[in-house]
Amino acid sequence: MLPYATIEDAAAALGRNLTFAETFWYNYSANKSDYFLYCHNILFLFLVFSLAPIPMVFIELLRSNSFDQYKIQPKARLSLSEMFRCYRDVMRMFFLVVGPLQLVSYPSVKMVGIQTGLPLPSGWEIIAQLVVYFLVEDYTNYWIHRFLHCKWGYEKIHCVHHEYTAPIGYAAPYAHWAEILILGIPSFLGPAMVPGHMITFWLWIALRQIEAIDTHSGYDFPWSFTKFIPFYGGADYHDYHHYVGGQSQSNFASVFTYCDYLYGTDKGYRYQKKILRKMKEELGDGGELNGGLYSELKSE
Ligand SMILES: [Zn+2]
Ligand SMILES: [Zn+2]
Repeated sequence: MLPYATIEDAAAALGRNLTFAETFWYNYSANKSDYFLYCHNILFLFLVFSLAPIPMVFIELLRSNSFDQYKIQPKARLSLSEMFRCYRDVMRMFFLVVGPLQLVSYPSVKMVGIQTGLPLPSGWEIIAQLVVYFLVEDYTNYWIHRFLHCKWGYEKIHCVHHEYTAPIGYAAPYAHWAEILILGIPSFLGPAMVPGHMITFWLWIALRQIEAIDTHSGYDFPWSFTKFIPFYGGADYHDYHHYVGGQSQSNFASVFTYCDYLYGTDKGYRYQKKILRKMKEELGDGGELNGGLYSELKSE
């Protein structure tokens, strides 16, 4: 809810005319409560989770050579009904855990100072805050994920997420309800440390989910723009963690690769990569390593 009766009042308070984005925000949010604006997250989470993996579903069903060469575990194939079952299971958790968690966590959002007013943050401010959120989430998630791989954590909680040894986009949030609650902490810690605008918060929640869907997609496309993000792990990196499964003591980080490098938990993955490179050289093909080879090696 904005504290201005008219758009002219808002301009007078800011000492300048509103930008196009601010006018749009004023018209949209002026009569909506902060709680209602916060609850938009539930809709965004639902839309991103339902829609973002759809292209990969088509690619998985298409089985075209041009895409299959980038599938990380080519022998692992899910049917449409299996993919739908995963979506349905996650949606059940969404209504039972994620939605209610969003509804009751509003006081903490208010407490840390996420605001809905004017002026809107600049693009650079939003980007800088999102970078901080990703770094904080990645670091915190690394340690929680590592803890979940201890015997108790894995058997009681984390084994659910690892049911998919060859992940798909819809399996990104597929997890025990306790894991969903626990991993809410790393997601919220960044905004709590560097509180921004509600729009930044929406963007953060949506981008974090898109990133998780990407890293669980099961395909490693060399043309993906994420290849330009420094230290970004991506699908190949996290796929290895799923493939190894419960015994995995490698590739814990959710977004970047530097934590695993610093703490020495990427050795298994790096060793696999080294062997793959050697195999590729011996085959005399200097091209890009492909998923087929990766899977052949891992299945030995
Ligand atoms: Zn794990
Ligand atoms: Zn995963």
